[in-house]
Amino acid sequence: MINWFEQYHSPEFVSDFPKTQTHLFDAENGIGADLLIENLLHKLLCENVTNDKQPCNACPSCRYLIDEHPNIRLIDNNPELKSDVITIDQIRELSSFIELASTSEHDKKIIFIKNAHYLTSSAANALLKNLEEPPNNTFFILLTSNLHKILPTIRSRSTIYKLTSPSKVQCEDFLKEKHQEAIKFLDLAEHKPFLAIQMADNKELINSILKVFLRGKSFDMMDVNENLLASGPQFFVDLMQKWIVDLAQFKEFKTIYYFKNLQDQIELISNQLSYKELLNFYKKLIEYRRLSETTINKSIALDNLMIDYKRIFV
Ligand SMILES: [Zn+2]
Repeated sequence: MINWFEQYHSPEFVSDFPKTQTHLFDAENGIGADLLIENLLHKLLCENVTNDKQPCNACPSCRYLIDEHPNIRLIDNNPELKSDVITIDQIRELSSFIELASTSEHDKKIIFIKNAHYLTSSAANALLKNLEEPPNNTFFILLTSNLHKILPTIRSRSTIYKLTSPSKVQCEDFLKEKHQEAIKFLDLAEHKPFLAIQMADNKELINSILKVFLRGKSFDMMDVNENLLASGPQFFVDLMQKWIVDLAQFKEFKTIYYFKNLQDQIELISNQLSYKELLNFYKKLIEYRRLSETTINKSIALDNLMIDYKRIFV
């Protein structure tokens, strides 16, 4: 268990790393696990590790981006295909990289698998073969937000680190120095500080989306266009799901979780809301989320979704 705060203030963890060759990090998205791991990978490959065993951040190796470093292979689900799988072909392609693994201490090879829960079972089994007898100086680093979806045989071969999520106070302390404005987005980001930063950086987009939502059934379809999807359909759906949850919660219990600063406006439109239609719409939203990961025409799907949104108001 690594307390979230220690991720940024625990040189011991970085300096001791790694004791074994296969590591599995379990962390929620948006809490900065990828940054911690990038630091570890830089440390592993650094040509000039500092006296306290931290990466120097200046040598040629440290200056590479993780996904461009010749000694690192980064594997992730293919975001261009919007697919939620890591295929067996992606794992097979690693074999030439692994076979070339050198015995030299200064020529470490690292395979970094993000979203490891997206490994298909055949891909996971192919990976397992590599984990059973990893060549010298070859390291496997896996990151997942869904530990129970990782093959038990992979788990048993890994050193597992549970990265805890930060508390609200930890988030605020961290963001005070890093990104003051993101503090306002912490509720909306469910206390995930890096998601809050992404939201703060997209605040104009969020405002224009909320402006449409707040008009209730009288929003103008002219305002519904691809601009609303500027940060991707997932970002839009995520925001809308939270919006619908708040509308439903306010209608039933007069409570608001995500959009507390919009309480007055929510109160104004809540009289027009049909609770039953809200629940129906929530189901459609889940379907839209699934569709938006495929290659359908995103703007037509968005139009249809917003036409359905009108129906929650009576
Ligand atoms: Zn370095």
